[in-house]
Amino acid sequence: MTILSGKARLAGITGWPVSHSRSPRLHGFWLERHGVDGAYVPLPIRPEDWTAAVKGLLAAGFAGCNVTIPHKVAAFEICDTVDASARRAGAVNTLVFHEGRITGSNTDGLGFLNNLRQHGVDPAAGPALLLGAGGSARAIAAVLLDLGVSVTVANRTREKADALAADLPGLAVIDWNRRHAAVADNALVVNTTPLGMGGQGDLPVDLSAGSPAVADIVYVPLETPLLADARARGLRTVGGLGMLLHQAVPGFQAWFGVEPVVDDELYRFVAADLLAA
Ligand code: NAP
Repeated sequence: MTILSGKARLAGITGWPVSHSRSPRLHGFWLERHGVDGAYVPLPIRPEDWTAAVKGLLAAGFAGCNVTIPHKVAAFEICDTVDASARRAGAVNTLVFHEGRITGSNTDGLGFLNNLRQHGVDPAAGPALLLGAGGSARAIAAVLLDLGVSVTVANRTREKADALAADLPGLAVIDWNRRHAAVADNALVVNTTPLGMGGQGDLPVDLSAGSPAVADIVYVPLETPLLADARARGLRTVGGLGMLLHQAVPGFQAWFGVEPVVDDELYRFVAADLLAA
């Protein structure tokens, strides 16, 4: 058990619900590894209470917090400033409190890129095909476009993909049923839908034409059916848990003053909890 001093730094994750979140476990791992006088706690907050609660955290001396479903868009409103990552992603997942002011950023895209890189996949190696056009697709599309990558989105609801493209100039859109044929034209295929997650059904996409790398941002199970299929075909695969770990790095650094590392020990520590669930 960590014994805190009166100067302990405090942060946490706001969501509704939040009991499923692995963020307290992963930040707790780093706090212990680095002997930080601080704590990172789950903060279940109903949507109607969120703004008052976060102002309360600010007033109570918290260093900041993470923001997860359903507060990521509302979090924009409370910020005094939002950085380019949040503006591009259209959502905030990390709040940093400093001298009474709130700065918002979105670290999902960076977490996605750094996870690819850690697995030996260069995100800028070639064009990318994103399956899905939700919040995470937007964050990922934005960072890939910023790297100069050609990005194509296929989404079940075409209008949603078109709306994303209107916000992110340069983004190409194809119909959902053209995703199979598009695989061969891309160096990277990314599942950003919840398909593949236990109980959600599998993502139907034909990988037989190949694509050097396949990434999934779903991490329950750790290896989704899509990734298992890609691995069986000899394609390079990247799972979603590493994105969760990497997206946490900037927040931890800002709140606790140490730049933490994502390594095998951390991965196994968080994965063990997923496997036990
Ligand atoms: P979201 O905003 O709700 O978007 C979901 C997307 O998936 C939409 O484009 C939706 O298409 C599509 N979709 C949903 N069900 C589908 C189905 N049955 N068939 C085809 N398409 C379907 O969700 P999100 O926030 O982007 O999150 C997506 C997934 O990523 C979740 O499982 C989440 O847990 C995971 N995630 C992981 C990380 C990480 O760190 N690894 C980070 C963020 C999110 P329509 O537009 O047609 O509805």
